[in-house]
Amino acid sequence: MINTNCIFCKIAEGEIPSKTIYEDEKFRVILDLGPATKGHALILPKQHYANIFEIPEKEVGEAFILAKKIAGIIKEKLNCDGFNIIQNNEKTAGQTVFHFHIHLIPRYFDDGQKINWQSQDVMQEELEEVKAQIIN
Ligand code: 5GP
Ligand code: ZN
Repeated sequence: MINTNCIFCKIAEGEIPSKTIYEDEKFRVILDLGPATKGHALILPKQHYANIFEIPEKEVGEAFILAKKIAGIIKEKLNCDGFNIIQNNEKTAGQTVFHFHIHLIPRYFDDGQKINWQSQDVMQEELEEVKAQIIN
């Protein structure tokens, strides 16, 4: 299904032009308009799914297989030194466009980007409690 109010649906369908670096029946891969680094790309399914919770397993599997493939091509062509693959879900986690997408972010020595989080101290008991919450 396509969502007529969704900008990534329009881009994925080719209705709005984009810097497309790969396209097949199910996906379009474009350069991000506000790149974190040179070569920052986005994998967009052509079908509209808001996030990881909505996209079916088969499609998300294909999206991540494609992420590996395109990351390999970008690494080879742009000669980056590292790679972050990021996928944000819902506003609290930084999602701003509510059409599932995977960020492919090539990293370069001294690129000045900070994509890491701040680690917190935690007690073993807290970890045990969280583990119990998740698995029970
Ligand atoms: P999110 O924060 O939802 O994970 O990522 C949305 C990404 O889409 C951002 O990195 C932003 O720069 C990019 N973006 C937003 N609008 C457009 C657009 O119209 N074209 C392209 N190519 N990228 C966009
Ligand atoms: Zn959409």
